[in-house]
Amino acid sequence: MNTTTDSHAVADAASASLQHWRLERSADGLVTATLDRACASANALSTAVLSELAQLLDQLDAAPPKGLIVRSGKDAGFIAGADIDEFGALASAEDAQALVTRGWQLFNRLAAVGYPTLALVRGHCLGGGLELALACRYLLVVDEPGTRLGLPEVMLGIFPGWGGMRRLPQRVGGPVALDLMLAGKTVDARRAYKIGLADACVPPRVMAEAARQLVVSGQPRKPLPFVTRLLSGPLRSVVAAQAKKKVAARARPEHYPAPYAIIDLWARHDGDALAAPELIDGIVRSPTARNLVRVYHLQERLKSFGKAEGVAAARHVHVIGAGVMGGDIAAWCALRGLTVTLADQDIARIAPAIQRAHTLFKRRLRDPLLQRAAADRLIPDVDGCGAARADVVIEAIVENVEVKRELFRRLDAQMRPDAVLATNTSSLRLEDLRDVLARPERLVGIHFFNPVAKMPLVEVVAAEGADPAMLARAAAFVRQIDRLPLPVKSAPGFLVNAVLAPYLQAAMRCVDEGLSPETIDEAMLAFGMPMGPIELADTVGLDIALAAGRSLVSDVSEPPTCLAERVAGGRLGRKSGSGFYTWRDGKAVKATPGAVPQGLAQRLVEPLLVRAQELVDSGIVADAELADAGVIFGTGFAPFTGGPLNYRKNSHA
Ligand code: NAD
Repeated sequence: MNTTTDSHAVADAASASLQHWRLERSADGLVTATLDRACASANALSTAVLSELAQLLDQLDAAPPKGLIVRSGKDAGFIAGADIDEFGALASAEDAQALVTRGWQLFNRLAAVGYPTLALVRGHCLGGGLELALACRYLLVVDEPGTRLGLPEVMLGIFPGWGGMRRLPQRVGGPVALDLMLAGKTVDARRAYKIGLADACVPPRVMAEAARQLVVSGQPRKPLPFVTRLLSGPLRSVVAAQAKKKVAARARPEHYPAPYAIIDLWARHDGDALAAPELIDGIVRSPTARNLVRVYHLQERLKSFGKAEGVAAARHVHVIGAGVMGGDIAAWCALRGLTVTLADQDIARIAPAIQRAHTLFKRRLRDPLLQRAAADRLIPDVDGCGAARADVVIEAIVENVEVKRELFRRLDAQMRPDAVLATNTSSLRLEDLRDVLARPERLVGIHFFNPVAKMPLVEVVAAEGADPAMLARAAAFVRQIDRLPLPVKSAPGFLVNAVLAPYLQAAMRCVDEGLSPETIDEAMLAFGMPMGPIELADTVGLDIALAAGRSLVSDVSEPPTCLAERVAGGRLGRKSGSGFYTWRDGKAVKATPGAVPQGLAQRLVEPLLVRAQELVDSGIVADAELADAGVIFGTGFAPFTGGPLNYRKNSHA
């Protein structure tokens, strides 16, 4: 029996029956409920976890504590969200309804308990996890880099139906809440405190004590400013209309119904999805949600390629070539915490890259000290001394076999034998570059896309007989800098450029047939592409598109006339100010598109689909899932379709 007055916590006898939660009652009458989901490295709100939470609340009803603190037992963070696989497996409208009802009612119950409650949030607190935290009276965040809060359900094609659409706007006001929910954005601890999502923000060493004090403090919540209350109350419909306009600029309702549903549910039903059952089934079991869950799993699969056992993190990367690609690769690596040496032929060629890097650091890092630290990590290195020390060396010089071979000959003598040697080449055969090396199998491809800071995919290229250990380290490096590694075999255009080339070619043939670029682009925007193919060709550069077409589209001899003429006339697209479009301030000037002919999108996308299948059949990419992942993350191919081959399967079904 605990007769002392010390505050040493004792496990609650009843918690013995729980598998995922631990209840501890301390002498001062506070109870701590720790979620430590069995057999998992991170917490997710599965059916079992939620039903145990209900049991736990039953127990506390019988013996109410002075206060309840909810926290996580995982190093990984608070709660990552609901269990994605459970909602992916919903069989009927009733199942979907039941899933929403369960969380909605349980969190309402938590919000209504008679004793004060507090969520102690450290690390990620997302989706259902944040909805649980929002149902507590107080939300305390721990100020450390891993802490992120948000309701990113929209990224999976669904909505935060367990109270998030009601309680987040109540805490931070409608406009900020919509901004977060509609873009699936997350905020760090300080920002969470600043916008009123968290009641307190404390450093890790005082978190437990701060939580104990706050939960029993009786402290009222800070009221929202008057204007925010107005916008969340009487002017809600105005805010909703504006939000819809903003969403419409990014996503069409027929492709992405969830953001529109979130706005309506908040504006009309104060976030209660149960008040609009038709929306629940229409969203939760929609093809879009199913495909976006697929995309989520594809992304996880790509991430897993970067997780090889026993691969030490790279600390120093040496980049040669400070041009468009090398400069941006170097900047990105420095942003992600690596020491980077950047070499080129002279300092004048490195200077613009350093300038661009500073702009990137400013945009991505708010804290001036962090900006400065990133800038310090990026070191101009005209003499190329960094090559001898680097863990990873990336070549991004001019696309010329002889020049690259000459460089590799020199590097081979300089580099550490265990360091990764990679080329960023888009079109040259690795086999033609590597025979100057003492161990040719050491060369791998690490193929980035332009612009580096925006494109999540990086192809990790294996030439015949490449050293698997080097490939594993290359993939781990790609993951380390927060990109998604896609293993591909060495072949012209790898995956992404190989599927794009026939697609762009088909689009330009339509220009030859008399369709306007605007009409063609509109057809593919309506299909769900982030950018039309003609605008994409202008962006890539028409000279590059011409060369790519020649080497990657085998079934035609002559390039499209419209393309050849423009290149001959020096109209190379965005970089020269005009191509298919005139470019002003980095934007294409477009006329109103004409009526889109029936079946045009289908005709344009077909060559891409066919090529993707061929690349799977020939083993350039290992399977259809990976082809879909690569094309989505490498080109932005309509994610709601689940990828080109998934789309092909479903549309031919
Ligand atoms: P770029 O012309 O912008 O830059 C090349 C840089 O390399 C120049 O600054 C040049 O001075 C430097 N350089 C040339 N020879 C050198 C040498 N021997 N030693 C040191 N520096 C040298 O070219 P880029 O567009 O950045 O392309 C570089 C590589 O990346 C190419 O292999 C290209 O195929 C590949 N790539 C380009 C893109 C793209 O969209 N531009 C995308 C993916 C991959």
